[in-house]
Amino acid sequence: MIIIGAGAAGLVAAISVARKGQAVILLEQNSKIGKKILVSGNGKCNIDNKYISSHRFHGQNPSFIENVLEGYDFEVVQKFFTSIGLALIEGKEGKMFPMSLQSSSVVELLEYEAKRAGVQIICDCTVTAIDKKEGTFTLETSQGDKRCEKLLLASGSPAAPQLGGSNSGYAFATKMGHTLIPRHPSLVQLCSEETWVKACAGVKVAGLAQLYANGEYITEKKGDLLFTNYGISGLAILDLSREVSTRLASFDYCELNLDLMPEFSKEKLTNLLLKRVEEGSDKPLILWLQGVINKKLITIILKQSKFKAREEGELNRKEINKLVHSIKNLKLSINDTKGFQGAEVATGGINTTEVNPHTMESKLISNLFFAGEILDVDGDRGGFNFHFAWVSGLRVAN
Ligand SMILES: Cc1cc2nc3c(=O)[nH]c(=O)nc-3n(C[C@H](O)[C@H](O)[C@H](O)COP(=O)(O)OP(=O)(O)OC[C@H]3O[C@@H](n4cnc5c(N)ncnc54)[C@H](O)[C@@H]3O)c2cc1C
Repeated sequence: MIIIGAGAAGLVAAISVARKGQAVILLEQNSKIGKKILVSGNGKCNIDNKYISSHRFHGQNPSFIENVLEGYDFEVVQKFFTSIGLALIEGKEGKMFPMSLQSSSVVELLEYEAKRAGVQIICDCTVTAIDKKEGTFTLETSQGDKRCEKLLLASGSPAAPQLGGSNSGYAFATKMGHTLIPRHPSLVQLCSEETWVKACAGVKVAGLAQLYANGEYITEKKGDLLFTNYGISGLAILDLSREVSTRLASFDYCELNLDLMPEFSKEKLTNLLLKRVEEGSDKPLILWLQGVINKKLITIILKQSKFKAREEGELNRKEINKLVHSIKNLKLSINDTKGFQGAEVATGGINTTEVNPHTMESKLISNLFFAGEILDVDGDRGGFNFHFAWVSGLRVAN
């Protein structure tokens, strides 16, 4: 078997197939294997999630996802990593990490085990074309032609091209008759043309972001909101980005409604502010508000609440209500994402109705297999994308 792509899926598949006694060659265009694993989880590698459930994965064919995951939960992945000598520990929300908290240990142990199992790893080898004749695949590569009986496309998605993200696998597969579900960047930062965000660049709040498309409420996520000079980032934003990305692609108008103090209900916040007035605030308004909210956000809150500029004096209840509304409903229009360059994953990919979920073999071309992000499956943040890469790689050896 030849495997194109020494990323998460390709490495696990290579080890599993080689352990079954088959000869395996692993081709990688980068000079090093596992580049995305190395940078993942800020260098700590959020390798999996303890709470695997099909609703944490997305694609146009949910039954394919359910079938791939059936019997391939976190424990199966943990067993595999134990077999290569990697111990795991649990972080928040079921997130799993290597006990070393170093992604390099994941890559180095995978590489060692692959070589020990007899896998031939060839780096700096880009596959440029594939042809199949009389049961043999011929691969044109930057290091000459290579032939095999079985071929696994584990070449990932276009996300993060700086780390090897590429479209090449899709081109090979579509040439062989497969179809593609459109790909969009996901787990990606969002861009806004509104100028005020630039002035707030660097401000981070624990907030709530609600997404509206064409004025209609879509969904919401809680977590960090980080204002930047291009728009907005932070964990809540990454979690919303899949929806934003696909909607912007259909030319929908996207707007975020930001609650900067979600832990305070409207009433609780109103009471807090009223109490501060009662306690006698003769301070200038901006200084008074600084007691509860980041200074850089105050100007925009006052502007969006159409607050008349004034320096001091007691606030009345109506004015407090306006402020509360603005703090809990700050509007930010979104016109773009940071694209594949900024994305951790891509939505879409090879149409999974054309792939056997138990063996990952193509239903159209015998002895052609797929694993990992090349397929129309993407997961939530929290280790789910690696989970799919590992288990689809393991299934190839079935
Ligand atoms: C910055 C960042 C952080 C991330 N953090 C996490 C995380 O903490 N947890 C998590 O679950 N997921 C995370 N992800 C997502 C995760 O890395 C991917 O979902 C996963 O790596 C997909 O595995 P894969 O094997 O399908 O593809 P990849 O890992 O992308 O591997 C594909 C390989 O194929 C090679 N290739 C492509 N075309 C060719 C060709 N023509 N010839 C030869 N080689 C080729 C590429 O160079 C690449 O090495 C992160 C992604 C990024 C970008």
